[in-house]
Amino acid sequence: MLREMTCIVCPNGCDLEIQVEDGKVLSVKGALCRRGEAYAEQEITDPRRNIATSVLVDGGELPLASVRLTAPIPKARIFDAMGEIRKVKLTAPVEAGTKVIGNLLGLGVDVIVTKDVGVRG
Ligand code: SF4
Repeated sequence: MLREMTCIVCPNGCDLEIQVEDGKVLSVKGALCRRGEAYAEQEITDPRRNIATSVLVDGGELPLASVRLTAPIPKARIFDAMGEIRKVKLTAPVEAGTKVIGNLLGLGVDVIVTKDVGVRG
């Protein structure tokens, strides 16, 4: 089976043609470098995504604080991960870099704040 996708590892955005059989990558065409081949392999065998979203902040100058994962997680776990993140409610002030969930769903990644939120004045 032929799968087509765009490599998103760098701005070149190479169009990849991946020959797949029984879930295994047989060949990758169109990649200008080895990172594209590794990306195709990852996407076919264990697709992962990061999450960038926000959590509620009580008493903050903004109602939400942006958060992200420290590493991508399996695509199939994104829905469950969002469910956990939605339960979080912080109290201002909130500092960038603060860990709000450790070892999310036992996946070995943390959820961290990416932007400061000060106290509402
Ligand atoms: S294959 Fe290499 S050059 Fe092409 S988009 Fe991916 S990382 Fe960039």
